[in-house]
Amino acid sequence: MASGWSQRFADPGMVVWQSAVGLAMQIGVVVHAPQIAWPWLANLFTVFAFGMIWIPVTASIALWAAGAALTGAFLYAFSARAAMAVSSPAELLLSWIFFSLVLGRCVFLSVYAAGMRERLAESRRKLAESMAQIQELVSHDELTKTLNRRALMARLEQERARAERSGQDFSVALLDLDRFKAVNDTHGHAAGDAVLVQFARIVHDTMRETDVFGRHGGEEFMMILTTSTPEAAQDALERVRVAVHAHDWSAIAPGIAVTVSAGVTGWRRGEGVAQMLRRADGALYEAKHAGRDQVRAA
Ligand code: GH3
Ligand code: MG
Ligand code: MG
Repeated sequence: MASGWSQRFADPGMVVWQSAVGLAMQIGVVVHAPQIAWPWLANLFTVFAFGMIWIPVTASIALWAAGAALTGAFLYAFSARAAMAVSSPAELLLSWIFFSLVLGRCVFLSVYAAGMRERLAESRRKLAESMAQIQELVSHDELTKTLNRRALMARLEQERARAERSGQDFSVALLDLDRFKAVNDTHGHAAGDAVLVQFARIVHDTMRETDVFGRHGGEEFMMILTTSTPEAAQDALERVRVAVHAHDWSAIAPGIAVTVSAGVTGWRRGEGVAQMLRRADGALYEAKHAGRDQVRAA
């Protein structure tokens, strides 16, 4: 067990086998030395009390039946040689019934333990579920269901550390919807929200699966392009820009048009994420100043 060999079994502690061997050993001793039978038979309580906590109820009942049958056979065959205070077959029968019933109490222990194990597994499952929910809540944006700022910053830092080790390129882009205040003012806040959701959907459909995208705040988004040179990243953002521009937004509100501007930059060896983001922000500012609906690289 210590070597891990028994891990391949459904019951890695092999408790059913331990109990069965324990039962066989006690019976073996009493058959060979009936005159000292009682202490050894009493030892069966230890075997059963240990086993029944761990093994399934059906196996407990089977072991109990085996234990009762074997002790019954022993008492029947060897009682004359065993030092027991019985003087008639009726007393012998009573002794056996008493013994079997006490062993049988261990089966109740098994039922109780099985219920406890089940409740424990259930609460563990619920806990894992809640943890997953909490994880989802703290890392995702409520409206667009994409990563939130906290998760984005954590991923960005992770990506930086990885690039530092591997020397591989990665890029980051800041995306900002153009004249979004006007969308809200003209079509209402609900339409604005719908645009944000649809925008996130378009980006997800356009980007590579290995890239990371989320809402940085308000109508600003961030994309982390893992293993992308700044040139490749700019191409990827250009595809996003075109897809947003070309999308038919009239389902949200008639006459509505949405475009996005983006600033892209590649990571430079030795720099921190704040420095990298400042450069991307500068590029975004340039894209806005140059007339919006465009991608600029720094
Ligand atoms: P620019 O092209 O320069 O980016 O202009 P803009 O209007 O997009 O920029 P500005 O920063 O002036 O306005 C951003 C607007 O985004 C203002 C704010 O009301 C809106 N906004 C931010 N978060 C949300 C949101 O969750 N829902 C909605 N509907 N609007 C939001
Ligand atoms: Mg904007
Ligand atoms: Mg903005």
